[in-house]
Amino acid sequence: MSDCIFCKIAAGQIPSRKVYEDDDVLAFHDIHPVAPVHFMLIPKRHVDSLAECDDSHRDVLAKIMLLAPKLAREQGLADGFRTVINTGRGGGQEVFHLHVHVIGGNGPRPL
Ligand code: AMP
Ligand code: ZN
Repeated sequence: MSDCIFCKIAAGQIPSRKVYEDDDVLAFHDIHPVAPVHFMLIPKRHVDSLAECDDSHRDVLAKIMLLAPKLAREQGLADGFRTVINTGRGGGQEVFHLHVHVIGGNGPRPL
């Protein structure tokens, strides 16, 4: 685990505002929200980014993608939401533990 902040959040060593949790996945609110609703889904098992995923991540990636609309609805985003996955330094990734942002509540925006 080393000193990965999201591993520490997944292990309960750093507090978070939890949205959802099961054995494989944790969802929690972003500490610096860019919209009225902004949370993240992460696999509990560490992987640096989408670029490091392989077949062993298939099930957890599917689970995260299927949870995103369900949790978005539960958070009040009946109208829709954005999903963002920043990958690698070139993709603007700052925390190197794969996470899927779910963002919404401030109206439509162009890509
Ligand atoms: P990125 O790696 O660019 O996709 O973004 C990392 C995101 O993690 C940023 O939106 C941060 O606000 C968020 N973040 C960093 N530390 C925490 C934390 N302790 N709890 C919740 N969100 C965090
Ligand atoms: Zn980690």
